[in-house]
Amino acid sequence: MTAKLIDGKATAARERERIAGEVAELAARGHTPGLAALLVGDDPASHVYVDGKERDCAKVGIASFGSRMPTETTQDALHDEIDRLNADPAVSGIIVQMPLPDHLDTIAAQERIDPRKDVDGLHPVNMGRLLRGDPRYVPATPLGCRVLLETHGIDVAGADVVIIGRSQLVGRPLANLLSVRGPGGNATVTLCHTRTRDLAAHTRAADIVVVAAGVPGILTKDMVKPGAVVLDVGINRAEDGSLYGDVAEDVGEVAGWRSPVPGGVGPMTRTMLLENTVRAARLLAGA
Ligand code: NAD
Repeated sequence: MTAKLIDGKATAARERERIAGEVAELAARGHTPGLAALLVGDDPASHVYVDGKERDCAKVGIASFGSRMPTETTQDALHDEIDRLNADPAVSGIIVQMPLPDHLDTIAAQERIDPRKDVDGLHPVNMGRLLRGDPRYVPATPLGCRVLLETHGIDVAGADVVIIGRSQLVGRPLANLLSVRGPGGNATVTLCHTRTRDLAAHTRAADIVVVAAGVPGILTKDMVKPGAVVLDVGINRAEDGSLYGDVAEDVGEVAGWRSPVPGGVGPMTRTMLLENTVRAARLLAGA
């Protein structure tokens, strides 16, 4: 069997088209969505990410209100800036680009964001809502995974899903999202991590495996049930600069579906931030 392609690039392009339509409709009613990315310090990768997010916004008509702050910014100054953005009616969504410089408290900054503007979905209110089973904003990568499954006609209801990785950004919220009661949920989820005793025993029994460990080759052909769906969230960089995932190449010989890296989950992550920003604009406008 050769696995069918879970095409994140094409799906993200279609989603962006839909989002652009929604942005135009909101703008026509005077509710143009706006995203504020707060970047502290001069980490080159963070600058590349934030520039990319602002370009993505521009392409669909979302306004950008980026704030670049110097490395020596104090916690108080950071909170003042978040307060200002919280109060600005033109700003629908706020993100604090991570990592923050070491002297700053990331959790305190995340908690300072108005939960209605928390488009990264990392405020305890939004995490709590997801845990409670009525998500409002879900972090972009897990949301992107769910949309990829839905748009490829892969029904997770009743499926055995194994997720490798229990991070705050990916594995943990995804486990909650896919097991929620309701559309796009109802899966039976197993969350694996570094202390899992027999990873292969879990993955071999799974209908769907999501790999988000940051460990190249952690999922190999012999660990996958024939016909299973494999989503590769991992991003690793080769010496020549090219990107590759966590899933070994030969998995495609047994899996039924497989997402590539690049061109799988990555473009969906970028697009779901735009989706959350549009949702925030609607929520704030009552539209
Ligand atoms: P993380 O380092 O915070 O978490 C990794 C998780 O994997 C941990 O929970 C750990 O327990 C688990 N893990 C590590 N080694 C393991 C092993 N040998 N066996 C079982 N579990 C193991 O990372 P993260 O932020 O969740 O990111 C994971 C990967 O996904 C990274 O490669 C990252 O670059 C990538 N990522 C991609 C996107 C995207 O849009 N495609 C978004 C976020 C993260």
